[in-house]
Amino acid sequence: RVQQHAGDQVPRYVRVNTLKTTVEDAVDYLKRDGFSYLGEAVRLDDLALKKKDFVRDLHLPELLVFSPKTDFHDHFLYTAGHIILQDKASCLPAFLLNPPPGSTVIDACAAPGNKTSHLAALMKNKGRLFAFDLDAKRLSTMSTLLLRAGVTCQQLANQDFLKVDPESQDYKDVEYVLLDPSCSGSGMLCLRDTTSADPEKEQARLASLASFQLRCLNHGLRFPRLKRLVYSTCSIHRQENEEVITACLQQNPNFRLVPLLAQWPERGLEPLSQCLRASTTKTRTHGFFVALLEKHSGGGDSKQ
Ligand code: SAM
Repeated sequence: RVQQHAGDQVPRYVRVNTLKTTVEDAVDYLKRDGFSYLGEAVRLDDLALKKKDFVRDLHLPELLVFSPKTDFHDHFLYTAGHIILQDKASCLPAFLLNPPPGSTVIDACAAPGNKTSHLAALMKNKGRLFAFDLDAKRLSTMSTLLLRAGVTCQQLANQDFLKVDPESQDYKDVEYVLLDPSCSGSGMLCLRDTTSADPEKEQARLASLASFQLRCLNHGLRFPRLKRLVYSTCSIHRQENEEVITACLQQNPNFRLVPLLAQWPERGLEPLSQCLRASTTKTRTHGFFVALLEKHSGGGDSKQ
């Protein structure tokens, strides 16, 4: 009952797909469709919306926010790929990685592809976007989603990311990696009840996930021209988040954490306050974790 209540507090987040439209045009369309636009939110409490009210998000410029039960699945803007239904926290990784148009990017564990389409939008469909996933079925759902979203710069492969060769000619220009590996999903409010009741089994599952996540992370850092890698999970466990990052930094001293969004209210657990966490109570989202790693020698600005 308490969890259902928590779920009800998460607004309906809508990412405007800038490959197909603009935020202004989407807002105008929605106003004509009977929604009331209240302008740009200035504090988190402004995201507590009723009925047909909506606002523009205070942290992510391409995000519109509606009351929790708003259903867009049959809406024209959704079926035409002008909007993507994506939780605010899950928009953070691509937004923070921010690959410029023309860059070469890897989405390591990509399906069903919401973050891939976000990366493509930031790249304005210019450059190369390699997207890998082990699961063929999820990858085929992803192709449909990317087609609908108007993504054209992607190269999908049904492949184990751990077996992608960083030394291959194909990946010699890779500068950005988004790594959103399989995790416990403990931050997803709808999945909270599915965790095993047996604490020992649960610990073993987390240890195995964390070891997979660390392997993926170490692998992602091996691309020779890599500048930045963003790591994210929809887990609330330190073991899959801060502990994975700490182990990775120990093993890769040439990388450091980039301090993220000073105005974001929930930080990584100490001492990793450069990273972000997200939760229903503090950020009005599902539970989430994001870290951005940058190569030391790369130069460039290290602030977001
Ligand atoms: N980034 C996706 C999105 O935003 O839509 C969600 C990714 S989901 C958390 C993790 C994905 O990793 C799953 O689709 C799973 O099939 C895939 N996966 C698991 N192990 C993998 C591996 N070794 N190589 C590539 N993909 C893998």
